Amino acid sequence: TKENIHNFNAGPAALPAEVLRQAASELENYNGTGMSIMEHSHRGESYEHVHHEAIATVKRLLGISDAYEVLLLQGGASLQFAMVPYNLLSPDQKANYILTGSWSEKAKKEADHLGKTYSGASGEDNNYKRVPDFETIETAADDAYIHVTSNNTIYGTAWQDFTRMSEWEAPVIADMSSDIFSRSFPVENFDLIYAGAQKNIGPSGVTLVIISKPLLEKTKTIARNVPAILRYSTHAEKASLYNTPPTFAVYMLKNTLQWIEANGGLQALETRNRNKATLLYDAIDESDGFYRGHAHPSSRSNMNVTFTLPTEELTKRFLEEAKDRKFSGLNGHRSVGGCRASIYNAVSLESCEALRDFMVSFQQKHR
Ligand code: PMP
Repeated sequence: TKENIHNFNAGPAALPAEVLRQAASELENYNGTGMSIMEHSHRGESYEHVHHEAIATVKRLLGISDAYEVLLLQGGASLQFAMVPYNLLSPDQKANYILTGSWSEKAKKEADHLGKTYSGASGEDNNYKRVPDFETIETAADDAYIHVTSNNTIYGTAWQDFTRMSEWEAPVIADMSSDIFSRSFPVENFDLIYAGAQKNIGPSGVTLVIISKPLLEKTKTIARNVPAILRYSTHAEKASLYNTPPTFAVYMLKNTLQWIEANGGLQALETRNRNKATLLYDAIDESDGFYRGHAHPSSRSNMNVTFTLPTEELTKRFLEEAKDRKFSGLNGHRSVGGCRASIYNAVSLESCEALRDFMVSFQQKHR
């Protein structure tokens, strides 16, 4: 059962127990309608209420006004890698991708299929241990846009501060798949934000897009034939009901966002998430080098804590013993190996304490 598993999966990931329980209790009979929410028409009153409430909750939580359009799309963040350049990269411009890990590389590769790009900064040379210093980032006023990845799920690094992005003249676009709604941030410094839901805000299947109205207008002037389904304007004009949305995923998204609200909103979660991460980083820092964090301390993510042990053999042993103790999902991404604890919103402080205790006792046994 949920109670005795510690879920550190990177995504899809842990969901709040309350949200799962609510879904279970309403699964066959949503709101007295005698049907599951999955069985309702997406044009019917029951689903439409869920849909609009999901969008309204995004706006409330982020404190965003009508200056932004909130879209609920499909295709994951990976489809956004393509939709962004389709809608915004004109043939006479270059898009600027700040490279901070594999996901930003993938985003750039999709844009390379469609137009010209460059990287105003890249962490590749330091094996993505840190995000670039703001001063070193090259940008141009005529960049089609500047693309950043706010939290690097695989390497366990994150931008600590978004305030200076307001100095950039070109539109700023952020892939926030792995840290959206985990901390408060200045939305107004971004023109487009996208995130797959499956880490902090729900199950996979729904992708959140927040786009400023001026940028949305700009997409309509792009000198390219864009299929209707791939245009932001298509979805904005139809309130994300252009075609059948992933209704159950949207229902879960709404309930997860309302769980965030009920738990004090972004400020409260930010504090809780920082405390959780601190437990694990302290265990690394106090281990005399037994645990080696991948991220430079100045770029540490509060969502994905990445580390290795002194040998491959010990890393393997650690992961095996962890599994026996019902810690799930601690393997690092297949591209980098090692260990990774993903500690999104729904992962409890108790799970992090249990992992910390396990790390300490494993070290005592094997040092
Ligand atoms: N960007 C980031 C930062 C991610 O962590 C992920 C998924 N792990 C993706 C993009 C890709 O997302 P999806 O699988 O939803 O396409």
